[in-house]
Amino acid sequence: MITPASLRNLLPDEFRVSDSGTNRVTCLVVGAGLAGLVAARELRRRGVGVVVFDKGRGAGGRLATRRIGDAVFDHGAQFFTVREAEFGRHVDEWLRAGVVREWCRGFAHGDGALRADAHPRYCGTSGMAGIAKSLAADLDVRTGVRVESLVAHEGGWGVTTDAGVNWRAASLLLTPPVPQSLALIESGGFTLDAETKAHLARIAYDPCIAVMVIFAGMVTLPAPGAVQIEGGEPVYWIADNNCKGVSPRSSAFTIHAGADFSRAHWEADDELIVATLTRHAEKFLRDTNGQPLENAQVETQQVKRWRYSKPTVTYTERCLAVQTPPLVFAGDAFGGARVEGAALSGLAAAEQLATLLL
Ligand SMILES: Cc1cc2nc3c(=O)[nH]c(=O)nc-3n(C[C@H](O)[C@H](O)[C@H](O)COP(=O)(O)OP(=O)(O)OC[C@H]3O[C@@H](n4cnc5c(N)ncnc54)[C@H](O)[C@@H]3O)c2cc1C
Repeated sequence: MITPASLRNLLPDEFRVSDSGTNRVTCLVVGAGLAGLVAARELRRRGVGVVVFDKGRGAGGRLATRRIGDAVFDHGAQFFTVREAEFGRHVDEWLRAGVVREWCRGFAHGDGALRADAHPRYCGTSGMAGIAKSLAADLDVRTGVRVESLVAHEGGWGVTTDAGVNWRAASLLLTPPVPQSLALIESGGFTLDAETKAHLARIAYDPCIAVMVIFAGMVTLPAPGAVQIEGGEPVYWIADNNCKGVSPRSSAFTIHAGADFSRAHWEADDELIVATLTRHAEKFLRDTNGQPLENAQVETQQVKRWRYSKPTVTYTERCLAVQTPPLVFAGDAFGGARVEGAALSGLAAAEQLATLLL
């Protein structure tokens, strides 16, 4: 007869639930963004038992895709590039699996003229969040779970979720934006040494207000479907998600505000934000005949405020490790302020954790 006790004995050590109702795992990863997922896959490849928690409804973090009716919007990261061979090897796998594809080799700039170069810009075949979904598919990723407190014990970490579930983890990987990771660590009274704390406290991020709009009628951007205005204010990015190949519904646009506008209008009404940003985006929009549009009418709108969009001050190494109990901080604030940086940080964190756990 199978009793709860005999069932526990069938489970590998890291998933055994103790009599006190505490779950156990070798490595607990907070954050199912790209850094957390890449790290979890690499740890599992090395034979480490790993569970990933994310407070979001789905995996991806800033690799974010939202559906509004039959329209689909990438509203966090829009595309990515490859600079390092180590990341390139992973991207080649994703290309072979059809998870990502080359979008283009450059975008229109502020003068509306397309500037192409030799470097591919990649995107998720079914949206940027699709990359995370594919990486998470065969991992133990638990979404809709917020980690609320972390307490250091002899031989590991005590982790409590918002549902009041307790976990014991031999090691911990924190991949949220660094101010959130610091708050979590401090919630349980763990004291980082002064130097580590000072390094982490210096890390800073720009905010970004993203708006998703469906225009009435047929509104387009010329191929490849995006305008990138370096340092642009109030708008630095406009994307036509239909032309990009993400949205089956046409006239579905993502507009990203610059950091200055985002800071100044953080508390502003959505209506004001959408009206201001669409007015500034309008000069780039075209009708089906490629003719400039005047007075584009917004049919549907949503606003997403990214408090931590891209790090402006980063750490010098790809991750930061604390030895006892084993704890690693990772994410784009370590590997570089972009998709590639998050992935490289995840790989470096897995390497560090594997070393700390040996
Ligand atoms: C608007 C915008 C545009 C961007 N554009 C580009 C671009 O075009 N190209 C590019 O290369 N990069 C771009 N980026 C940056 C890129 O998205 C990031 O560098 C990368 O996705 C960061 O991944 P990450 O894993 O480090 O962090 P995240 O994706 O932020 O993952 C951290 C995760 O931790 C979770 N979390 C936080 N706290 C808790 C908790 N207590 N419990 C459980 N889970 C928790 C969060 O829900 C989140 O999913 C953009 C970012 C934004 C916001």
